Amino acid sequence: MIKKEESKFILKEITKMFPYATIELHFQQKHELLIAIMLSAQTTDKAVNKITKKLFSDFKNIEDYATAEFSVLESYIKTIGLYRNKAKNLKNLAIKILEKYDGEVPDTQKELEDLPGVGRKTANVFLAEYHEIPRIAVDTHVSRVSIRLGLAKIKDSPVQVEKKLMKIYDKDQWITLHHKFIHFGRYFCKARNPKCKECPLLKICKMPMI
Ligand code: SF4
Repeated sequence: MIKKEESKFILKEITKMFPYATIELHFQQKHELLIAIMLSAQTTDKAVNKITKKLFSDFKNIEDYATAEFSVLESYIKTIGLYRNKAKNLKNLAIKILEKYDGEVPDTQKELEDLPGVGRKTANVFLAEYHEIPRIAVDTHVSRVSIRLGLAKIKDSPVQVEKKLMKIYDKDQWITLHHKFIHFGRYFCKARNPKCKECPLLKICKMPMI
């Protein structure tokens, strides 16, 4: 188990590097946030923001997605990975929200995870961003950073990483920790060529690449 001082040091140093880390997906309406998070699976936020600019401008509400042809939805999102599957999920998610929740995105973890294309990570990000409910969403960056720094084990699943982080850090740190770890992983401790030589966490890192 990682020492308390070490876990504090990790968050302190990452906070110094990314004090204003926040969500990078663009959205205005509640359903747009959910859609943007869903579309961001296995692609970059930058790529999602590029396509949602036109998508959100042409599709104003849930009905618009529910009544659109798959091929039309595909044409809007075809520059991102898994677009065929995502277009299918987008339409089916809109139909379900319309039929079961009267067009309003539901607010509980269980209801969210029941929607097509929405898993635990998407629901966690949505609840944290929209409702400010403490959650740690574990994506590839959070997972990699946690493993390299010894906060989790290499064989841990995203859910196991999430549970370990929730045990180590206080609840009021969860949302901000999620943003900071994502930024640290996205821009500094990258999957390939992490900046280990300049890293303030080098002395405690379990997997430095130098
Ligand atoms: S030393 Fe390298 S691998 Fe370790 S946390 Fe820093 S950047 Fe990441």
